[in-house]
Amino acid sequence: MQSRLLASDETVARYFELFVNRGAYTLQSSTPDSANGRCYYYRPKGRISLSRETIRRHLEGQITIGLYAVNPATQRCKWVAIDADYPDALEDLLKLQWELRQDGVEAALEKSRRGGHLWIFAAQPLLARDCRLYIHSLARRLKVPVKGARKAQVPSSETVALAEGIEVFPRQDEVHTDEFGNAIRAPLGIHRGAGKQFWFYGADYRLDAQIAYLTRLRRITEEEISRFVSAIDIPQELPPAQKRSVKPYPWNGSRREFSILEHINGGKKKIGRNYFTRCPSCARQGRDRSGDNLAICIADPRKYKCWAGCRKEDIRAALGCPIRNHLGASR
Ligand SMILES: [Zn+2]
Repeated sequence: MQSRLLASDETVARYFELFVNRGAYTLQSSTPDSANGRCYYYRPKGRISLSRETIRRHLEGQITIGLYAVNPATQRCKWVAIDADYPDALEDLLKLQWELRQDGVEAALEKSRRGGHLWIFAAQPLLARDCRLYIHSLARRLKVPVKGARKAQVPSSETVALAEGIEVFPRQDEVHTDEFGNAIRAPLGIHRGAGKQFWFYGADYRLDAQIAYLTRLRRITEEEISRFVSAIDIPQELPPAQKRSVKPYPWNGSRREFSILEHINGGKKKIGRNYFTRCPSCARQGRDRSGDNLAICIADPRKYKCWAGCRKEDIRAALGCPIRNHLGASR
């Protein structure tokens, strides 16, 4: 038992690379709640950041951690996990796995206590919002239920929220810097409540074989997900994103809306309700040495302003995404 669970440095490093997208994490209590017997997750006290040593202890079964999907600095995630734990859960996850395969995306199925988790890895971190849209649209196409989705009641016009269905992690489109979103049990640890370890179906039930399998999976690229997402009509019956989500993403049918945050690479400071960063148009003219002329509203990044007076048209042009101006077509 003990030797089977020793995690090599390489296993720990690969696991970290696959799963860890931000420092915050949760720990599962090893003592069940006296009222309902559940082993709850809590956030460790203080500003402790997830370390390789913590991952090792998780993989070796000394502790059990939960992972957050979204990094609030980028609103991106390294992986998407689909959690299903209702009677037909495995069948639905297999359907999703097959459908993803048709898009060229390899997903790994992990057992869980009552159903499973389907994991997809990204070649480079992807916008949480895009991941959610993509998976929800696949589910809709396959008629896989989504927990919390609104379903119209026939014949009345009222809607009810589905109690059973898949849950997609990330569960938020965006999280603010002081928020965490929802965590999911990190794979390959010991579920404290069930008292056992769950494995991926795709490889031998050994840590090194499991990690090698996950590392080999083909990862979804930014180009692919943009293509998939741009082909989707936003369904009406999807569950509202968890609290603090942004408004539904506005579409014009074919082309996605410009989002300035996708074009700002690092170097932004959060002050009050805004980010401050170098104005691309100023930078083009050799100005804005202090790198803070451009203010971007955090709550609505469609609002941004250069304090040196650059016009929106100039900023967009400097980013290589000029504002298009044909009749009524753009927002
Ligand atoms: Zn400027």
